[in-house]
Amino acid sequence: MKTLEALPFDNRFHRLGKPFYSEVQPQGLTAPFLVCASEAAARLIDLDPQEFRRPEFTALFSGNAILPGFQPLAMVYAGHQFGFYNPQLGDGRALLLGEVTTKSGRWDLVLKGAGQTPYSRTGDGRCVLRSCIREFLCSEAMAGLGIPTTRALCVIGGEDPIFRERIEKSATLVRLARSHVRFGSFEYFHYTENDTAVKQLADAVIAEHHPSLSEAKDKYLQFFSAVIKRTASMIAHWQAAGFCHGVMNTDNMSIVGETFDYGPFAFLDDYDPTYVCNRSDEKGRYAFGQQPEIGYTNLSALGLALSAFITEAEIREALAAYAPAYTQAYAALMRKKLGLAHTIKNEASLPEQESDQALCDALLALMDFNGVDYTILFRRLSDYEIDTKASPALRALFLDGESFESWLVKYNRRLKAQALSDAERQAGMKAVNPLYILRNHLAQAAIEKAEQEKDFSEVDKLLKLLTRPFDEQPGMAAYAEAPPSWAKSLPLSCSS
Ligand code: AMP
Ligand code: MG
Repeated sequence: MKTLEALPFDNRFHRLGKPFYSEVQPQGLTAPFLVCASEAAARLIDLDPQEFRRPEFTALFSGNAILPGFQPLAMVYAGHQFGFYNPQLGDGRALLLGEVTTKSGRWDLVLKGAGQTPYSRTGDGRCVLRSCIREFLCSEAMAGLGIPTTRALCVIGGEDPIFRERIEKSATLVRLARSHVRFGSFEYFHYTENDTAVKQLADAVIAEHHPSLSEAKDKYLQFFSAVIKRTASMIAHWQAAGFCHGVMNTDNMSIVGETFDYGPFAFLDDYDPTYVCNRSDEKGRYAFGQQPEIGYTNLSALGLALSAFITEAEIREALAAYAPAYTQAYAALMRKKLGLAHTIKNEASLPEQESDQALCDALLALMDFNGVDYTILFRRLSDYEIDTKASPALRALFLDGESFESWLVKYNRRLKAQALSDAERQAGMKAVNPLYILRNHLAQAAIEKAEQEKDFSEVDKLLKLLTRPFDEQPGMAAYAEAPPSWAKSLPLSCSS
């Protein structure tokens, strides 16, 4: 474990040169203070968590100081936002401070909220405490759930007022990620007719993330196919966990398939494919059930951006692999959630129409119709014992209990056709069906305490809880409950 000063930097992105970024020095916060920090994230970069308590830590990650190894820069990119191409985006309020190399690979260290950059447009370059706490908790919660994601090292608060829909508190967040290259990074160079830069960027990403492809003749096609696979898998994880991203613009799509840019995200309360978490998304473009489709649309935009190096026919063929990759990944995750083993003792005993997919679809349809809490249903189902009736707690989730009992008969038949014991299946299900998720009202309670009383204990409590979302933790039963009805499926503002 290292001190801040001993972190080893190797800034490859900086070496790519000028067309890719602008050098910008961070502008610090007034009277900064530590809000929260993640020990698990610190360990990823070999940083000793004891360092959190040093004033140098707060100074550094509020943008008030820099280390000798830092080469701060704002990356340039473009992107399709809500279906429309925006030719000029770029980091308006985030700086890549440097890249830390460790045994586990290379991590970008990005400081969010440290002032304006040449890409800020009309923005102030700042972040509000509320959205930093949300990104911090959700990044670490997603990691706890085993979903590919960027990570959050810490949030630092400041005394500067920030003008949004109301006056809010300022903060910075330090994000760790395998890469900050987005689909929109390639689009920017493609649409500015700089194929040399598209190639240079693709080569850099291939060298870093797909080194085995570096010598391949069709390396750009293989690279594109790899991004398709990773994106399909990431979105399958979102759908299985009930995670709604909220702003799936191509500038928020990571080239390494990590969940990226936490804005008005939400976890589903009641299962509802039409749920839209982003209040500004009036047409429901990024509704929960649309996410897999949008993944395809975004990958098509990336394909177009790479079209100087891959033929149209190859792009189409590569894209055709997206739907099966997604379907397969999603089906595998849902089988695990339902405790359905791949090997069945006697397949012939199951009617054709009772395929695992049909079983899963039927349950989701019932949940949709009955407004059943997605997370709670799967956790309670994890306690089901073969050849018994549904427990009262499980049955009570459905207004139409009879339809659920009929579904359960089929489920029971399917479970009996596999060789797993109840105990084995239940343990397997509880390892993938979380007891605790970051519901909006839980995050909101922690934010209000932080904003009003400068009390960050609730943030720490949630961090600890969500790092181990599958394990029952003493005294935390209230955190596993359904939200109060006023807090259900609240749409969130994009303004952060
Ligand atoms: P997002 O919706 O967070 O992905 O942001 C879209 C674009 O707006 C990105 O280029 C951001 O850097 C930029 N942006 C968002 N908020 C601000 C802000 N307060 N100041 C400057 N730029 C911002
Ligand atoms: Mg963004």
